[in-house]
Amino acid sequence: MRTGLGFDIHRFAEGRKFVLGGVHIPFEKGLLGHSDGDVLLHALSDALLGAAGKPDIGSFFPDTDLAIKGIDSREILEKALRVLEEEKHRIENVDIVVICEKPKILPFYGAIRDSLSEILKLEKDRIGLKAKTFEGMGEIGAGNACACMVSVLLAENL
Ligand code: MG
Repeated sequence: MRTGLGFDIHRFAEGRKFVLGGVHIPFEKGLLGHSDGDVLLHALSDALLGAAGKPDIGSFFPDTDLAIKGIDSREILEKALRVLEEEKHRIENVDIVVICEKPKILPFYGAIRDSLSEILKLEKDRIGLKAKTFEGMGEIGAGNACACMVSVLLAENL
């Protein structure tokens, strides 16, 4: 067994689509980033790569690479999944905490888990998802950013 831990945070900006876990969430702002800014898929990709003992997603998708500007973060996660496949690792479960003051994530709980289940090819009872606020403190509390923490467990595919 191997555990992995991922964290990411992105700033909200006007004129961007808010995409979380591959799901479009209607909101007045979206997350800024070289890609679509999907903070959940970035933290998840990093957790998976970390569990496999690989460097983070920035080494596979440098933000200086203009060819990947605006990339769908599902492509980033799929790259991480290919790395796991090459190393013959299998995902046992993932557990996710989204930290965001606004908008409320709960109404999209089912859609995000469906999306993750489809991308990861993993049963939904192996995907934990929680949404927390930052109790009004700091930049996240002011609604200026969204962060995400992910823990994963991999098993060697013998
Ligand atoms: Mg990121």
